[in-house]
Amino acid sequence: MNSDITIGVSSCLLGNPVRYDGGHKRDDYITTTLAKHVEFVVVCPECEAGFGVPRKAMRLYGDPASPRLVIRETGEDKTEQMTTWVHKKIEELSKMQLCGFILKSKSPSCGMERVKMYNTKGAVAASGSGLFGGALTSRFPLLPIEEEGRLHDEAIREHFVVRIFAHRRWLDLLKAKATPARIVEFHTQHKYLLMAHNPAMLRELGKLTARVKELKTNDFFRTYENLFMEALKTRSSVKKNVNVLQHLSGYFKKQLTPDEREELGSLIEEYRNGLVPILVPLTLIKHYIRKYHAEYLLRQYYLSPHPAELLLRNHP
Ligand code: SF4
Repeated sequence: MNSDITIGVSSCLLGNPVRYDGGHKRDDYITTTLAKHVEFVVVCPECEAGFGVPRKAMRLYGDPASPRLVIRETGEDKTEQMTTWVHKKIEELSKMQLCGFILKSKSPSCGMERVKMYNTKGAVAASGSGLFGGALTSRFPLLPIEEEGRLHDEAIREHFVVRIFAHRRWLDLLKAKATPARIVEFHTQHKYLLMAHNPAMLRELGKLTARVKELKTNDFFRTYENLFMEALKTRSSVKKNVNVLQHLSGYFKKQLTPDEREELGSLIEEYRNGLVPILVPLTLIKHYIRKYHAEYLLRQYYLSPHPAELLLRNHP
C-alpha cells in the first residue's frame, strides 16, 4: 500500500462533543482499532451548516424522497440551510481521494438508511436517509459507505474494510500511471478476492483486462473501476469462500501427503459447516503456499486483503 487510506467519518463518532446536546457518540472500534490504519476526514453536517452546539433537536418530516429538516420544538424548516451546505460539501469531498465513509446511524443529517420520517401529526410514518447521508450515497454509489451500528456486525465490518483497502490500491495504481502490464498484474493479484465476492464480474473484468491495449485509457479505467468496485460491493459468502479455498488448495495438492490433504479438506469442511472461522483453513493454506513456493498465490490479495491487526476473518 503506497498511500494513506482516507475515509470520511461523522465527527461525533470520534468522540467530538458536536451533538445537539453537546454530547458525542464515540465508537470504540473506529477510534481505537481502525484509527491506527486510516486518516479521517471529519464531518459534522449540523455544525458545519451553522446550527451550532448546543442546538435544538431536528427531525425529518414528509416524503422520504424529499424530506424536510425541521426543528422539533418550533417547527422551523431548516432544509434549505442544510441542503445548501450539503451540495457544497459533496463537491469538496469529490476532490478528495476518499476510500470510504462511516456515517452516524439514525441521524436526520448523517443517517444512511432507516432514519425516522415523521408526519404532520408527529408520528413516525416512514423511514429513509438523512440529508447528508442520502446525498453522499447517491453521489458516490460505489464508495464503501457504512454506518457505525452496522460495523458492529463482524461480517459487514470485514466487507467494509476489504473494500476500503481495495479502493486505495486502485487509486495507487492510477497514481502510478498504470501501464498495461501493471493493470494486468493488478487484476491478477485480485483474482481470488474478486472470485470470493462476485465470480461473474471477475470473468467480465478478465475479458476487459484482456482488451486493455485496444481500449482508450480513460474508457478502460472508468469501466474497470466501476466493475471492480461493483464486484466487491457484493458480499462474499461461505460458499464462495469455500470455492476459493478449494481453488487455492489445488495449486499444491499433488505435493501434500494423503494425511495433509485430508487435514486441509477437513478444515475447509469445518469452515463450511460454521465450526471454525475462515482464518483456520486459510492459515494452513498460507503455510503450504510458503512451503511449496507457490509464487503466483503469494501475490494474491485474497490471502491478506487488510492488515492482520484489524482482527477480521475471525468469525464463522
Ligand atoms: S450525527 Fe452527524 S450531524 Fe449529528 S452530531 Fe454526529 S456528525 Fe454531527
